[in-house]
Amino acid sequence: MDFHGGLKLPLNHELTIDKPLTLARPPKKVCVLLSQHSGSPAVAAVEPGARVRLFDVIGASIGAVSCDVHAPVSGVVESIGDFVHPYYKYCQGITIAADPPSEADQTLGFNEAERFSIEEICDAARKCSVIDTVSNNRPLHVKISGLKPEAVNYLIVSFVQNEPYIHNMETISHIYLDEIMSSISYLSAALMPAFVFLAVPYHMIKLITAIDNKLAQNRASYKNFKIVRVTDKYPQANELLLASSILKTRVTQSALANTHKCLILDASTMFHLYEALKFGKPQIECHLTVSGYGITKPANIKARIGAFISDIIEQCGGFCGNVNSVVVDGLMSGYSQFTLDAPLIKPNRSITVIPTERLSSSGEERCMRCKKCVDSCPMGLDPARLNFISRSGAHEKAEGAGIYSCIECGVCSYICPSRINITHSIILSKKMIMETNVRRRNNDESI
Ligand code: SF4
Ligand code: SF4
Repeated sequence: MDFHGGLKLPLNHELTIDKPLTLARPPKKVCVLLSQHSGSPAVAAVEPGARVRLFDVIGASIGAVSCDVHAPVSGVVESIGDFVHPYYKYCQGITIAADPPSEADQTLGFNEAERFSIEEICDAARKCSVIDTVSNNRPLHVKISGLKPEAVNYLIVSFVQNEPYIHNMETISHIYLDEIMSSISYLSAALMPAFVFLAVPYHMIKLITAIDNKLAQNRASYKNFKIVRVTDKYPQANELLLASSILKTRVTQSALANTHKCLILDASTMFHLYEALKFGKPQIECHLTVSGYGITKPANIKARIGAFISDIIEQCGGFCGNVNSVVVDGLMSGYSQFTLDAPLIKPNRSITVIPTERLSSSGEERCMRCKKCVDSCPMGLDPARLNFISRSGAHEKAEGAGIYSCIECGVCSYICPSRINITHSIILSKKMIMETNVRRRNNDESI
């Protein structure tokens, strides 16, 4: 199954794919950012000097699209203030001097239930602040709240990942396949969709076999489950492209839930949902592929949120050679770090360290109107035009050129022979339009 445009990229998994998942060293200090997802940041619910226990709520949700923030360690709150965010420049965070890990911390109850209503699932996702990493890192409970049994026709669970150097989804899917399948079964039993599609890219051959075996062991329970093999092209993991590939029709954001009655989640979200349902465990960890030819010991790491990127790099043996950039969450759609002081947040999936000799240093040249960006854009846009509009400062015209359909995948920048950073121009235009709208709204309210 395929979609228009996109790119077949080298996966570069050779450094880490056969390595085990290892636990990061318990951090001595963490900085827990109050912005852990794309909704409204939480507000601090503790004061400096307060003693907190693992899983305590330290940030309270505000607004409809928000969720609480839990302590990833026990310890004493040192400070509350602005800290570096791995995606944006700065954000409020809470630093905690961590106690040495104790066994009492790890004790969690176990819920024996094997069936949950959709309200119970939604409640567990909200209480444990599970993030939905398919839909732009929004809180999961926001996505599933209000859903009724049989209102969803297709439940699609994505195992897809095809950005270079990243395979954390494949790693955790091998290790926690039982948990992920149980969690999908609970959701399927609660929502009763006509079909449950498990979308796996062609290159994950071992995972396809493992899931196939699992389905074969219990055909009765999994009767509406089907493995769907999807292309290895980037950005197949995008939910609209995934739905379009599987349903064989072009799916827009508004039609996804309303017309097609389609709910898409990914395997890592399903794993955290399992922990929330069975143990009541808040999401305080992320699974990372730490890779690239600029890191001494590439590794698959399970780390606490709030641990610093510099600590993780140190645990992986530090840099080797001259390093040009450290990128969080993918070379195509991730964020290059201007400092290693940023702490980890829930949606983080990778740290990639690129040595100087692997990057071309030449700058942008003029657009030669080759239209390669147009041919490759998976959303059918004209990226060259969007870039021109953005750089001419006429941001308001970008709406008419379809800027809101852009999924910021980075394909146009990657393919451009003139090395024009088109995606950056598009992101800038979106930001400028948003700021203008906010200013207008504020002016209207003050009249
Ligand atoms: S215009 Fe947007 S969606 Fe199209 S290739 Fe560029 S970044 Fe991707
Ligand atoms: S790929 Fe680059 S050079 Fe070619 S049309 Fe697009 S912006 Fe211009």
